[in-house]
Amino acid sequence: MEHKVDLTEISDGTLYSLNDTVTLSCDGCRCLSEHARCCHFAEDTITLDPFDIFQLTCAGYPFVTLFQKEIISLAPVSSVLLPHLNFNDSGSCPFLDADGRCSIHAFRPGLCRLFPLARGYGENRLFYVKQIHECPIPTGQPVSVRDWLGLADATRYEQFCFDWHTLVTQFRERLQTTSGHETRTTLSTRFLSIFFFAPYETGASFYEQYALRQKEFKEI
Ligand code: SF4
Ligand code: SF4
Repeated sequence: MEHKVDLTEISDGTLYSLNDTVTLSCDGCRCLSEHARCCHFAEDTITLDPFDIFQLTCAGYPFVTLFQKEIISLAPVSSVLLPHLNFNDSGSCPFLDADGRCSIHAFRPGLCRLFPLARGYGENRLFYVKQIHECPIPTGQPVSVRDWLGLADATRYEQFCFDWHTLVTQFRERLQTTSGHETRTTLSTRFLSIFFFAPYETGASFYEQYALRQKEFKEI
């Protein structure tokens, strides 16, 4: 989910790039009684983008299954309806297994990959910040942001994140300046259909599929 925050309050104050080194560690919260603290009590904040839906489809959870099994819900994020992980009544992620581990680790959403890093967006760039109040492991080993993400093509993924953020921002502005409930509903339905409801092919490049969908959406 997107927030406007004072970075000096939540981070170490550095704006990192993909190739920068940051000190991070994760031991799965073995020091706590409930393992993987970041997989609990996130409520509706783990928003999913088309890359996340593609990854979850690869893990055997296409969008329709996620929706029918109530693993995800749709909620407005400043006017734009977006899917997010549905944490259960006890505050746990639906993908946590009985041992307190992520059952879809290789396909986990981008926000989970980053944690305790978070993304920020400047005028023409994407940057990363290290959140200092979220993870109980304050120190760790030097690691590049690229390696922490653990994606084969992090540069292309980063470009996708920037493009998606730009598209959602522009769409939000359009929704907020469009009069008429019916028109806004039609636009939102098209947005969800193109980027989420239409199934992704797991055997094809995500980025090529996304580029076609982006083109289709921009023609509306
Ligand atoms: S809160 Fe920190 S240490 Fe615990 S599982 Fe998440 S990233 Fe790892
Ligand atoms: S998807 Fe995996 S890493 Fe992300 S919150 Fe759920 S269990 Fe944790």
